[in-house]
Amino acid sequence: MTERTFPIKIGLEIHGYLDTHEKLFCMCKTNGDEKPNSRICPICTGTPGSKPMAPNIEAIKKVIQIALIFKSRINYSNIAWQRKHYNWADNPKGYQTTISGAHATTNAIGGKFKGINLTELHLEEDPAQWNPDSGKINYNRSGLPLIEIVTEPEFSDSEQVVEWLKSLLLTLSYIKAVRKNAGIKVDVNVSTYGERVEMKNLNSLEKIKKAINYEIARQVENYEKGVVQTRDTLAFDEKLGKTIKMRSKEGATDYRFISDPDLPLIKIDKKLTNEIKAKLPEMPEVKLEKLLKLHKVGEKDAKILTKNLELVEFFEELVKNDIANGLPWVTVELLRILNYNKKTLEDEDVEILPEHLAELIKAVEDGKITKLKGKQIMNDFIPKSFSLAEHKGEVSNIDKTAIENLCRQVISENEKVVSEYQGGKTASLNYLIGQVMRLSERRADFRTAGDCLKEMING
Ligand SMILES: [Zn+2]
Repeated sequence: MTERTFPIKIGLEIHGYLDTHEKLFCMCKTNGDEKPNSRICPICTGTPGSKPMAPNIEAIKKVIQIALIFKSRINYSNIAWQRKHYNWADNPKGYQTTISGAHATTNAIGGKFKGINLTELHLEEDPAQWNPDSGKINYNRSGLPLIEIVTEPEFSDSEQVVEWLKSLLLTLSYIKAVRKNAGIKVDVNVSTYGERVEMKNLNSLEKIKKAINYEIARQVENYEKGVVQTRDTLAFDEKLGKTIKMRSKEGATDYRFISDPDLPLIKIDKKLTNEIKAKLPEMPEVKLEKLLKLHKVGEKDAKILTKNLELVEFFEELVKNDIANGLPWVTVELLRILNYNKKTLEDEDVEILPEHLAELIKAVEDGKITKLKGKQIMNDFIPKSFSLAEHKGEVSNIDKTAIENLCRQVISENEKVVSEYQGGKTASLNYLIGQVMRLSERRADFRTAGDCLKEMING
């Protein structure tokens, strides 16, 4: 075996879907109706004679936001849209509109994220979705605004890449710049002993990891066999678990980049940049630090909360509402009802207000309702929470006499369980308490119910 003397270098080109309402050059919606070809118009289907509208300012603002987070150098003027020509079924215009290419001034240059240097970032439009098996094309995706983030080849293994991408996606979702659920598309280049190869369009972290591991192993094997590594473009076939050569890498000139005559040059206002900067939310690391130090949340819970900006903000709102012990209500109960209903706080139809939950927790803490009753009311918080005032009838515990009456009823209806309990099976008491809770619609205090049952049974 030959000794390896080369370093492994991995670089990424990440395409993320910018979280805008409309597409880049037309007013079609970016999400909503998922029926194929339901969100299209002459512009985003490249109908002859159609011309692009002025670029979506929302998308440009998101790119500035992202550049600010990475401390990239923003280009303020002379940003010309380029036509990147290629003929493919997903691209009826014959070119993709982008701010990259041979003659382009990109949106921003340099910057750094979690120890990895960035080369540049720019805006471009997504092509349509073409299914090579059916031949069908879905234009809903055509014209969606994408950010492309290019890194320097500074990664050395797949684990590092995946962890970095996870942090990147979390950070971009914190600034609400990228649509988290829309996924990402990543081109990964790997270089070992020879020319670098590029793997196109990897659309999940799992795929990225597998493709990198396969490609490194393949190149190392080739090196040992003495095979020359050329500059290739590859596709990763997940079913076969291997990379397949698509073509030898074309030079940038193959795309015949030219400036788009239909679109004006972009000029970024410094005032706008400053406004965006002033409004940037806190990053995950800052939130985590605050949870640990300021709110004294344990590390495990703090990590659960910071995985999702909406969840952290929800917790922070509870604290603002003077709820000191709200943590389990968020990390356990709130997540439980969300998961059960297959919802997240980000879903548009979900509107659970922290002040309503605060009111509920207070009622529990003041002994006005039982914890169980509180949890039951919470189940009804989806899709919209409500003030407890609207649930007045339920929001009071029943008194001791009423509990005693229910205990008597439960004892007479469950003779067998009672005698089991008398025979030493202590767990049977829990069953009996459960029956009292059920009959009281969870408005009985379970400790009182337990004491009462014990007293009556033991005489
Ligand atoms: Zn359109």
